[in-house]
Amino acid sequence: MSKKQFKAESKRLLDMMINSIYTHQEIFLRELISNASDAIDKLAYLALTDQNVGLNREDFAIDLRVDKKLRLLTVSDNGIGMSREEMEQNLGTIAKSGSLQFKQELDKDQQDVDIIGQFGVGFYSAFMVADTVTVLSKKYGETEAWMWQSSGADGYTISPCEKTTVGTEVILKLKADSEDEKFSRFLEQYELQNLVKKYSDYIRYPIRMEMEKSRQKPKAEGEDQDKEPEWESYTELTTLNSMVPVWLKAKKDVTDEEYDGFYKDKFFDYEKPLAHIPISVEGAVNYKALLYIPAKAPYDFYTKDYKKGLQLYSSGVLIMEHCEDLVPDYFRFVRGVVDTADLSLNISREMLQHNRQLAIISGNLEKKIKQELLSMQKDRREDYEKFFAAFGRQLKYGVVSDYGMHKDALQELLLFWSAKEQKLVTLKEYVEAMPEAQKHIYFAAGESNARLSQLPQYQRLQEKGFDVLFMTEDVDEFVPRTLMNYMEKDFRNLATDDLDLSSEEEKKAAETAAADWKEGLDFLKTALEGKIVRAEVSTDLGKHPVCLVPEGGMSFEMEKYFKRMNPEMAMPVEKVLRLNPEHPAVQKLKALITEDPEKAKQYAQVLYAQGLILADLPIEDAQAYTELICSLL
Ligand code: ADP
Repeated sequence: MSKKQFKAESKRLLDMMINSIYTHQEIFLRELISNASDAIDKLAYLALTDQNVGLNREDFAIDLRVDKKLRLLTVSDNGIGMSREEMEQNLGTIAKSGSLQFKQELDKDQQDVDIIGQFGVGFYSAFMVADTVTVLSKKYGETEAWMWQSSGADGYTISPCEKTTVGTEVILKLKADSEDEKFSRFLEQYELQNLVKKYSDYIRYPIRMEMEKSRQKPKAEGEDQDKEPEWESYTELTTLNSMVPVWLKAKKDVTDEEYDGFYKDKFFDYEKPLAHIPISVEGAVNYKALLYIPAKAPYDFYTKDYKKGLQLYSSGVLIMEHCEDLVPDYFRFVRGVVDTADLSLNISREMLQHNRQLAIISGNLEKKIKQELLSMQKDRREDYEKFFAAFGRQLKYGVVSDYGMHKDALQELLLFWSAKEQKLVTLKEYVEAMPEAQKHIYFAAGESNARLSQLPQYQRLQEKGFDVLFMTEDVDEFVPRTLMNYMEKDFRNLATDDLDLSSEEEKKAAETAAADWKEGLDFLKTALEGKIVRAEVSTDLGKHPVCLVPEGGMSFEMEKYFKRMNPEMAMPVEKVLRLNPEHPAVQKLKALITEDPEKAKQYAQVLYAQGLILADLPIEDAQAYTELICSLL
């Protein structure tokens, strides 16, 4: 029979497994048991509607068997089984989830073998302990059974085989023992029992093994009752796991490690979650839930590939892997499980959407999640910042989506960079720290904090002792537009809005200056034809001679954003040149307008370019600008 080759990336993973010096090789058992449990889930689900399955909930089991002489360890299940094509598909390539994530991680840091044990590497982990792996499987509904066999990286074979019952058997021929590696320990019943307890206790099907036990021989009638009792050994099929899923256990009976371990295992994350939220509700609707806040965003989180949703169980049977209706979009990072007996088992997806119980549950969960996040924000700020770095963007999308419908629910969760404090602050912290004279919440949006701190308007506010929130993410600028105000303070954009800083006298002075500048402004408008729509004087510029502000509601940052999103549709934002009438360079320009209009035009060009630079906009014709400067020098 000809050998088939593994796909390239699978081979790489496999090579790692085979040559692994990883100390937690024992996790292979967890992986195989978890696959067996998944396969049973699938058949158990089918059995709800398909009479022909002929199995009840209590008939399902995962069995461990050992053959010490032949060094064989077998994990078998009566789950859904695999067809020939599925064997090819699933065992010949790195399938998905855990393994794929693993691979991605691997590309970043090839050396880090230790990562193996941190999360699911799936079926291939069997090669850490076995030199030959044989899989016998018969798929539910099919007549033929198939055998997949491989001794490692040189390929695998698939051939027909005899198997009477539906399900899968994974047979490991354990590697030979060496000085430092005793693979034969995986043939010992106590070792296996411990491993099941440690990693797979919550699996909801019995994991059984024939255990050798001993008992006192009952005394025969008439036997001397004082005689030392005799012992005999016998074997008994024993269930090794408690089968109580973590989410059904009382909070006090579960350690943090157990909660974290369950999360890593179930959701293929190697980093422990920032928080776990066990929930038990009895009342109008009865349910238990266990929710997690991950510490970092999965690599596909901000793409269409990411599937949100919680696992939905009904009386211990998984009925949906990703129940989307249980969490609002803005909390789509939350992972977890919901288990309720109040749902009919064979409820359809469409019916679920309109299910009243589900709506109540999701409303409750949302509140719990928010509570947990707020308490993390208050008591574990560092963790909260970590959370916000990973998912803050999602919360901001939540604020601006659906016409701001969720803004009240989310605004307390937001963090922004405070230029004054040099750290992330909540809106509440910002407002509470505002000096009496400050009437608005100031913010500036741009590429980086460094750029923003050079805005002339910022420097003016700084002189006043007012803080400014720096926003550097695409979505940021839309947040204050949606919120409009917070604690009765409205938001003012440094780049576009009236900052409302001038005193009455200053305003008067500005009006006089404007009147005085009337001709100069007209001159500039003509001199900078096509570049600006207008010029105006302003007292908000601090030490700076000029700045450019956008005309109309859209900012330069938004213009850039839309241009990135859809270059063809982008509409250029018109610019207004603001002048600081106090600045010597501007005064010089004013004088030149009457004395030497040609030179004044050149000055206008230079000042306009200054405005571009400060607003973080490109100089349209860099060469012409350089020549102009040189000619003036
Ligand atoms: P994962 O479990 O992350 O999908 P694995 O490498 O562990 O990755 O398994 C690959 C696939 O092989 C599984 O998704 C499943 O389709 C199939 N598989 C593995 N073990 C079994 C089993 N005992 N019964 C049925 N299918 C199985």
